[in-house]
Amino acid sequence: MDYTLIIPYKKEFHMTQTEKAEIKTHILHEIDKLQQQINTLQEKAKPIAPDCSLGRLTRMEAMAEQEVNRRILDESKLRLTRLKNALSRIDHPMFGICIECEEPIGVDRMKIHPESVRCVACASEQ
Ligand SMILES: [Zn+2]
Repeated sequence: MDYTLIIPYKKEFHMTQTEKAEIKTHILHEIDKLQQQINTLQEKAKPIAPDCSLGRLTRMEAMAEQEVNRRILDESKLRLTRLKNALSRIDHPMFGICIECEEPIGVDRMKIHPESVRCVACASEQ
């Protein structure tokens, strides 16, 4: 889809360059944090060796913990992908515009969740 055809002059510029720069810094910071978290989790999510000397209960606990780690790992990877996408879109005029209603998502929401592609109203209808 060619967004330049849709946005034209209908929308007012909803985000200042300063705000954009702020969001960009935030995204980069989050990506960095997530990358570190993923590295740590990947280490923890490694299979537990069957011959490990842990007791049975400890081993079950370790496996349950591993399951939790794996879930957080998946979520982290997903968020990392979304943040990277957000970063590639940030200089695009459609950044910060809801893909459903085409209204500005809101700077405050974008600051907290820069990966948002829907406004609060449209996201809650999901
Ligand atoms: Zn919307």
